Amino acid sequence: MKRPRILVIGSFMMDLVVRAPRAPQEGETIIGTSFGRFPGGKGANQAVAAARLGAAVTMAGKLGDDVFGDQMLSALKQEGVCTEHVRRDPEASTGIGSIVLDDQGKNRIVVVPGANLKYNLEDLAALEPQIADHDVIMLQLEMTLELVTAAAKLGRKYGVPVVLNPAPAQDLPADLLRAVAYLTPNETEAQLLTGIPVVDVASARRAAAQLLERGPQAVVITLGEKGALLATKEKTVHVPGFAVQPVDTVAAGDAFNGALATKIAQGAALEEAVRFANAVGAITVTRPGAIPALPTAVEVAEFLREVETA
Ligand code: ADP
Repeated sequence: MKRPRILVIGSFMMDLVVRAPRAPQEGETIIGTSFGRFPGGKGANQAVAAARLGAAVTMAGKLGDDVFGDQMLSALKQEGVCTEHVRRDPEASTGIGSIVLDDQGKNRIVVVPGANLKYNLEDLAALEPQIADHDVIMLQLEMTLELVTAAAKLGRKYGVPVVLNPAPAQDLPADLLRAVAYLTPNETEAQLLTGIPVVDVASARRAAAQLLERGPQAVVITLGEKGALLATKEKTVHVPGFAVQPVDTVAAGDAFNGALATKIAQGAALEEAVRFANAVGAITVTRPGAIPALPTAVEVAEFLREVETA
């Protein structure tokens, strides 16, 4: 099978994780127990997910001209992701998530998107000559909606299918939905987009039918442990998830999207692509963290072999 070429136009966030016995009160200083820095952001996570599965991935987006930006670039390069089209903003900081995690496992998070929101139409215009060299474009919603919409339209202009993961949840303009080939909301996002409470396979079917009317060729609603619902104009199928013991569900959606895009870019049948993405999502929830949890193609093949012989 040929090596799929994927272009991710998306976000970077450096997660700064402080562990402390409890969160501080207003005006209070307390002593924490550990600190860690973890490269992430939906764009970067999905880029690494696809790269580990064997795709040739190019990532475009914006970092600050700061040390977190440098660290993000080296983390991506280490994964074999092409960073040639990543831009740096001289003024804005690299996107960060500041996370206080207490001993009860509760968290308090402040996200500063910073440079992610500075990736603009001019940057996108500079990327335009590269678009047609890719099999799939992946987008999420951690950049401006104006930019995401323009990027999806460029995909359409060059006949490169766009996978839009509409996360974090927000309403979408009609022209964006029309430019997208594959829309991949989770239950919460599907509910926000349609007004239909998505709580099971039956309600997901209704939400997917409504979303299909609005333009995408296919809608894939991820359903956590229940797997995913795949809907096209021809048919709607529930593709069940794999039974695993979850330890940390962070990045399950990013893993799923990276896997789905990789399979689509390889020309796989959609149902097979969704099943593969379910396997990648399932493996990811059995491991802690975001990027460290993402499996390689060899690990997924092993997982599927074990499931099939069980
Ligand atoms: P998000 O992380 O965006 O909320 P989901 O929770 O729907 O998205 O998870 C994405 C995918 O990851 C699911 O469609 C499924 O394939 C897989 N997944 C998530 N949670 C589990 C789980 N507990 N067991 C097995 N697979 C899971």
